[in-house]
Amino acid sequence: MRTRAWTLVLLLVALLMPAAAQAQTARRTKNVFLVMADGLRWQEVFTGADERLINADNGVNDPEALRSAYWRPTPEARREALMPFLWKTAVPHGQIYGNLLKSSDAHVTNPWNVSYPGYSETFCGFPSEVIKGNSKVMNPDTTVFEWLESKPAYQGRVAAFGAWDVFPYIINTERSGLPVDGGVGPLAFGKTSPAIDIWNAVRAETPYRWGGACFDSMVFRPAFEWIKLNTPRVVFLGLGETDEWAHEGDYEQYLHAAHRVDAYLALLWAYIQSAPEYKDSTSIILLCDHGRGGDAPLTTPPATLPALEGVEQKQWRDHNSKVVGARQIWIAVWGPDTPPLGERANVPEVTQSQVAATLAALLGEDYAAAQPRAGRPIGDVLGGARRSGGD
Ligand SMILES: [Zn+2]
Repeated sequence: MRTRAWTLVLLLVALLMPAAAQAQTARRTKNVFLVMADGLRWQEVFTGADERLINADNGVNDPEALRSAYWRPTPEARREALMPFLWKTAVPHGQIYGNLLKSSDAHVTNPWNVSYPGYSETFCGFPSEVIKGNSKVMNPDTTVFEWLESKPAYQGRVAAFGAWDVFPYIINTERSGLPVDGGVGPLAFGKTSPAIDIWNAVRAETPYRWGGACFDSMVFRPAFEWIKLNTPRVVFLGLGETDEWAHEGDYEQYLHAAHRVDAYLALLWAYIQSAPEYKDSTSIILLCDHGRGGDAPLTTPPATLPALEGVEQKQWRDHNSKVVGARQIWIAVWGPDTPPLGERANVPEVTQSQVAATLAALLGEDYAAAQPRAGRPIGDVLGGARRSGGD
């Protein structure tokens, strides 16, 4: 009897072992960086520069120089010229959604198509019922950052940096107590350094072109230093120049800003893959807060996109509830857990409201269960045992 019982125990152990091992290795992600490029259109992300906008009417001082920097004969070559890191490194190692030309639809679910509602939807996982514009009001809803920070594993390990002084309101620093750098005034939390002091001086001594928004360099550079010093597990990084230059109608600076977003991602990823705290254990989610108006991209043969017909050229500058196409976004995810399916085509739609739960799920946390209003994780970007469909 005794031998038989032991045999049964050993058999059970043998049966359970692979499942236990699998559960432990199901997620390699220990850290997540959420990076957003404000108002960067899917048109440029997937097809690169639009030659119809490379002219003086759209603020381009030197059309020849801009064409030589970013214009190429095919959409694939154009987008690689504009965002080489995204297309040559990130996407081949992960996934990107939102190319309407390939039947991949990514959009916001809030009806406003402006920044605060878009960031709130991204961070909270559902469209706010009260936030309709960009006023500085404390967000009544709880973000996935605040939810994660309440868990011991993430306490003191969550930080946010954005080139806009509304971010402390969106993440509700009064209630959440989270460290949020809004790009205006000094970065003065956590461990700092002489390099960060210099950036704080530059911020104090440089006029702000857009009121409450700084240039991307002024938020990225000190944030990058801070990340190296403090090794947070969950980071938000918000870059804003793409939106600001578009509102100014300056297509030249808008493209350069998109190119810099890509360069910053390349720097961040190179650091992540060189640092023991982050190497092979960090996922990145990259998206925008809203789209903009404008024509469908140039393609060969020309694509028919009924939703974008009859739009004026200058509508690329704008975005709001009335601008056709401004709800369209794009979402990229790459890291150790995301199957490398690349540019997604012919897939079910994904929404901005799925990002919060996706971020948590990459860390092995179930935000959707804690926040029933939140969109479900994007199943296809989650590898391993917990993978759950493509919704
Ligand atoms: Zn805007």
